[in-house]
Amino acid sequence: MTDLRMQIKEKIDEQWEEQLEFLQMIGRFKSTLGNEGALQNYLADYFQNEMQLSTEKIIPDIKEMSKHQGFSPVEWGYEGRPVVVGTWSSAGKKKGKSLILQSHVDVVPEGPHEDWRYDPWGATIDGNRMYGRGIQDMKSGMAAMVFAVRALQSLGIRPQADVYLESVLEEEITGNGALATLLAGYKADGALIPEPLGQQALIGQVGVIWMRVRVKGAAAHVERASAAVSAIEKAYVLIQAIQEYRTYTNERPKHSYFKDHPHPLNVNVGKIYGGDWASSVAADCTFEVRVGLYPGEDPQAIKDEVSQWLVDAAAKDEWLKEEPPEITYYGFHADGVALEKDLDVFKTLGKVHKQVTGEEMQFSATTATTDVRFYSVYDDIPATCYGADGGNMHGPNEWVDLPSVKRVTETYANFILDWCQAEKI
Ligand SMILES: [Zn+2]
Repeated sequence: MTDLRMQIKEKIDEQWEEQLEFLQMIGRFKSTLGNEGALQNYLADYFQNEMQLSTEKIIPDIKEMSKHQGFSPVEWGYEGRPVVVGTWSSAGKKKGKSLILQSHVDVVPEGPHEDWRYDPWGATIDGNRMYGRGIQDMKSGMAAMVFAVRALQSLGIRPQADVYLESVLEEEITGNGALATLLAGYKADGALIPEPLGQQALIGQVGVIWMRVRVKGAAAHVERASAAVSAIEKAYVLIQAIQEYRTYTNERPKHSYFKDHPHPLNVNVGKIYGGDWASSVAADCTFEVRVGLYPGEDPQAIKDEVSQWLVDAAAKDEWLKEEPPEITYYGFHADGVALEKDLDVFKTLGKVHKQVTGEEMQFSATTATTDVRFYSVYDDIPATCYGADGGNMHGPNEWVDLPSVKRVTETYANFILDWCQAEKI
């Protein structure tokens, strides 16, 4: 290990307590959908004042975004919910390659508290783990990229190409936060996203669409139920059709990156609401579905296919053929991603991963989506995800492995050193 790399390792050790406090601080913000503003303002302030980055807050513009291929439709606005970009500018003329480091602050809902061993918003440390909603996915990544830069800054190291620290929102539902940064003009020679994939580099991911299906019934009191039609029971007919679609779509030929996965395209009914009284026949029932698709498939074509599947199922039902379901779309309209292994980002990442861990870097394809598509599919920026290890992502008792967060921090600092030709000034 060179002297400089040793100094970086020691600096990250020295700042580790502070990094843990930072991760706990951001972990305690309840930054679920619509509630990211407070944390974004905290981070903008942190980038500007603790890190002396020139910092911009961007309010995503729906009108402008909606013209873009990567836009996902929303039913809400972005007022008070900025995307934040801090620029660490190069010392003098550009020599190295510029770099985007991007994390999302939004987290999925924490679910029933009784299922949690620790307060989901407590950021509790127990041994080598920290527990909490979003701690792994992906506030651990935000802490790693911030403290990678801080370690370099503390050593008087400057990059010779710009480094952008981006804190985005809606990675878990649209990706529109990442889209807003591209539309605001933030581009670079490479991008890394510290999604917590167990220190493996992301090579591919599925695409995702969301759909909403509303079913109407003929309401009446249960006493006259023979004349009534329950929207809940009719919704169940269509949910069964969705289950059949799940089998169908996973029996199609698999994309090569997912050939070893038994069930790569998750089709999930994740939300249902309907009815208003136990003694009344439900007049209305709505359910929401997430559908996966392979890289190279058009999200719109998959939307059309699933819609048609439900229309066909409805045609076979006495009630539903007269009262067809109302199908709408919001949230993910996301293409899949298949990256080439010979990208420069993989070469540099593989090298520094080996320096830090002593092992060859592994690749993984995920059956979820990430923001990486904005750089590699909707733009021409070589990008991947690489982040910490942990467990129970999106479930109760989500946790991150803290030693892996430290290793990722060191890997990112060394990546900046190589990629941006950072040096002591
Ligand atoms: Zn994530």
